[in-house]
Amino acid sequence: MKMRIGGAEVAGADERWMPVVNPATGEEIDRVPEGTLYEVDDAVKAAGDAFSSWAGRAPRERGLLLFRGAALVRERHENLARLLTMEQGKPLKDAVDEVRGFANVLEYYAALSGSLAGEYIHLGKAGDAVVAREPFGVCGAIVPWNMPALLMAWKVAPALVAGNTMVFKPASTTPLTSIRLAHILDEAGLPPGVLNVVTGRGEVVGEALVRHPGVQKISFTGDAETGLQIQELASGSLKPVTLELGGSDPMIVWKDADIEKAVAGAVRGRFYNAGQTCTAVKRLFVHQSIGEEFVRRLMEAVRTLKVGNGLSPGVDMGPLSGAPQRERIGTLMETLKNRGQGKVLTGGMPLKGPGYDAGYFYAPTLVTDVHPESALLTKEVFGPVLPVICIPDLDTAIMHANNTRFGLGASVWTHDLSVAREVFSRVRAGVVWVNRHLTLPPDIPFGGVKTSGIGSENGTQALSSYTRLRSLYIGW
Ligand code: NDP
Repeated sequence: MKMRIGGAEVAGADERWMPVVNPATGEEIDRVPEGTLYEVDDAVKAAGDAFSSWAGRAPRERGLLLFRGAALVRERHENLARLLTMEQGKPLKDAVDEVRGFANVLEYYAALSGSLAGEYIHLGKAGDAVVAREPFGVCGAIVPWNMPALLMAWKVAPALVAGNTMVFKPASTTPLTSIRLAHILDEAGLPPGVLNVVTGRGEVVGEALVRHPGVQKISFTGDAETGLQIQELASGSLKPVTLELGGSDPMIVWKDADIEKAVAGAVRGRFYNAGQTCTAVKRLFVHQSIGEEFVRRLMEAVRTLKVGNGLSPGVDMGPLSGAPQRERIGTLMETLKNRGQGKVLTGGMPLKGPGYDAGYFYAPTLVTDVHPESALLTKEVFGPVLPVICIPDLDTAIMHANNTRFGLGASVWTHDLSVAREVFSRVRAGVVWVNRHLTLPPDIPFGGVKTSGIGSENGTQALSSYTRLRSLYIGW
């Protein structure tokens, strides 16, 4: 079997395949080739061959092509969303939003294509200079399984609009939507070799991409430990890297907060995508004066969440991404219970029974009275478990919020601008929301501080990050 996207083979290894399993049913829904160094090399070569002609086009021409791709994605969003739900598990309505998000990001960067410009500097008698903004060449992109379509757009769109070509590696468990999206871009008129998808294991295909001398820049989203490894691998060849890594986002609910909105924000912030989002609300701090009412209303809301197969109508939360992820959450909660490190208000167990048996479901869980050494507060927890901590004052909330090696997102729920400002200036996070959490429109740059990453995605900054500067000095 040979698969071809944009003129490059995705993988050619006839003998080796990876199953793609629906996490809601445990059933194999498809298989994709397990790529090797050979396929990476081949894809990099195809991307290298396509580069000069792609970079030589007018930026607006590249933008128009992305607009066309976005229109096709919008037309076919229902089928794409079904596929995304089947391979990843999220409810269909959220999959529809993610697929539309893919199209939004393409359109955002397509519209910016006309803004790519260098600079002219007049140096008086000493001469004149032109600063050119140029694409890198072949870029490599690696993404995880939790937001396969959106994260693909965050990397592909700015890279291609800036004139680069790309080799893209999806997660082993969720390659299908990315392959379908790449085919659609192909159909929209992307020239052969501009975007190449290689499926395969991270340690093989991912590492080969990072090491490859033909790859000029790497953009990676995933686990912090993998990110550190990638940075080390890339540093050997001084390859620039953008790293979007994990988070342990705090949400601070101040005493004047609109409780109804904050409860809804916490539920969405933590249980969207079964808690498997980098910027999910992972620790919730609520002012003690409203703590009792807030926790009661939060518990009521969490208990009404409908968990099930994302394709079933009315489902709010799907399964975890697979058996290892459910086991990790299960072990974490058992440890918490055995050590008496918290009080479980609701959930705290895998879901069993009709509709749940074959999939990887875990009950939406709320925990209070959490011990400071519990993994719920010290690690990034990628699942539907929310620890709630009452705090007496803002200093304590900010101290807890910063007590993590991560610095991705944070939110404060208040109408008091001075509180919002205090949180923004003292909490070390790449993005601080006020009366919101999770939302990341393509217009604003997004990137972590501390071990949450380096560099930014989204915004005009991401477009610039796929270019480098070269200067021309003319002495008269
Ligand atoms: P991983 O780091 O395990 O995997 C992410 C991607 O990297 C996958 O495609 C994986 O391939 C690949 N990979 C694995 N090992 C290597 C390697 N040695 N070299 C190159 N590539 C490799 O992350 P998870 O899948 O566990 O994703 C969850 C993490 O992603 C969480 O920490 C989450 O917070 C973070 N994340 C961050 C976001 C952000 O924007 N900051 C957004 C979304 C998630 P394979 O699938 O084959 O293992």
